[in-house]
Amino acid sequence: MYNPKSQKAEEFISHEEILQTLAYAQENKENLPLIRDILDKARKGKGLSHREASVLLACENQDVIREIYALAEKIKTDYYGSRIVMFAPLYLSNYCINGCVYCPYHRGNSGVVRKKLTQEEIRRQVIALQDMGHKRLALEAGEDPLHNPIEYILESIQTIYSIQHKNGAIRRVNVNIAATTVENYRKLKEAGIGTYILFQETYHKESYEQLHPTGPKRDYAYHTEAMDRAMEGGIDDVGLGVLFGLERYAYEFAGLLMHAEHLEAAYGVGPHTISVPRIKRAEGIDPESFSNGIDDDTFAKICALIRIAVPYTGMIISTRENKAVRERVLRLGVSQISGGSRTTVGGYDTPLPEEDGSAQFDVSDQRTLDEVVRWLMELGYIPSFCTACYREGRTGDRFMSLCKSGQIQNCCHPNALMTLKEYLEDYASPETKAIGERLIAEQLDEIPSESVRAVAGAHLQKIEKGSRDFRF
Ligand code: SF4
Ligand code: SF4
Repeated sequence: MYNPKSQKAEEFISHEEILQTLAYAQENKENLPLIRDILDKARKGKGLSHREASVLLACENQDVIREIYALAEKIKTDYYGSRIVMFAPLYLSNYCINGCVYCPYHRGNSGVVRKKLTQEEIRRQVIALQDMGHKRLALEAGEDPLHNPIEYILESIQTIYSIQHKNGAIRRVNVNIAATTVENYRKLKEAGIGTYILFQETYHKESYEQLHPTGPKRDYAYHTEAMDRAMEGGIDDVGLGVLFGLERYAYEFAGLLMHAEHLEAAYGVGPHTISVPRIKRAEGIDPESFSNGIDDDTFAKICALIRIAVPYTGMIISTRENKAVRERVLRLGVSQISGGSRTTVGGYDTPLPEEDGSAQFDVSDQRTLDEVVRWLMELGYIPSFCTACYREGRTGDRFMSLCKSGQIQNCCHPNALMTLKEYLEDYASPETKAIGERLIAEQLDEIPSESVRAVAGAHLQKIEKGSRDFRF
């Protein structure tokens, strides 16, 4: 029985409800009066239900699709302006006892080189990341109680936060580790993590069990209920995601939105972020062997509809996607991107890192962070290294209520300009710096509040003189 408030996986992600949703979407995909009503509701910027969004996903009418794209762009601009938050993944260890058939780190893959960073190696990675200009990391580690116990993750977080190299600092560590206990989530919260991220991979239970033949991750309910335990452990910023290509995309899309609705219904706070990875080539993994791959147009439509359905949720895209795809979905709703990423364990301070056989997936966008920052600015975006909210205690429902009232805009815009200024002063190439300085000068005038503009202007001058870490 479908119940978004239930804490049981099979009730808040009800298979029957998804099947009924898909049937409803097929029945109504040419029902233009209904589609008009759904678009009118979406235009109010308060989101859509999984059923409503699924009808739009099924609709193939080109005029409607154009409207969906235009609306996604508008909502994106209304809520996020032209800011794009930057981050980098940091792979701590690729030891893993799970058998996920789509991931090269699965236990049976002898072709992958296994590595686990020592605290000294983490230090070197973090210094390399700081020297690129990163302030926000996403920690990644396989599931292995022997090699990667929670104590190792906690110690690593402490190491990362403690490193101060030149003007560098990692100010927010998001964590993407296997589903764990309430007690461990509590420890992660105490360690000062930002968002806890866990991809569902697929919401389809039967496929999930086939794709995870061995290891603790095989337990669908334990994995699907992880965010509930994280909430119980005090982590109120959680990040969802599915791996598109494993199951039919319409099924995953409905499941993903139902998961978001569940968090909202049960805890009063929806997901902080949604990631949209697609299955990619890697050591021993051929994406062609998964029959549910989605083309770029479908991928763009999914991104646009997520933006419309959950306007307050940040959307993340990684360097799995190439420059052209990233450029397209940035317009449609993506609000966070990685840059200069290495998906190998220890890849940030070694040459030719993708060739050592320890990568989780091949990186499609190989540009440096400086190149990505410049490219974003040339497209009219403001790259932001802001991490202010979690450091100001603006998490969970507090964050969401600021988002919903629109007040968060008064923080994001000046924070983006100030953190970009820090980046330009400390790390940018002369060409990037010149473009950035012009952008900041133009954008400062766009801050509507006179007092905020004055304070931001004063802070920008202080940054030029060497001060750091101002925030609203
Ligand atoms: S997806 Fe995660 S849990 Fe599965 S094999 Fe890869 S690292 Fe391990
Ligand atoms: S002010 Fe908060 S919501 Fe805005 S960019 Fe910074 S951390 Fe994100």
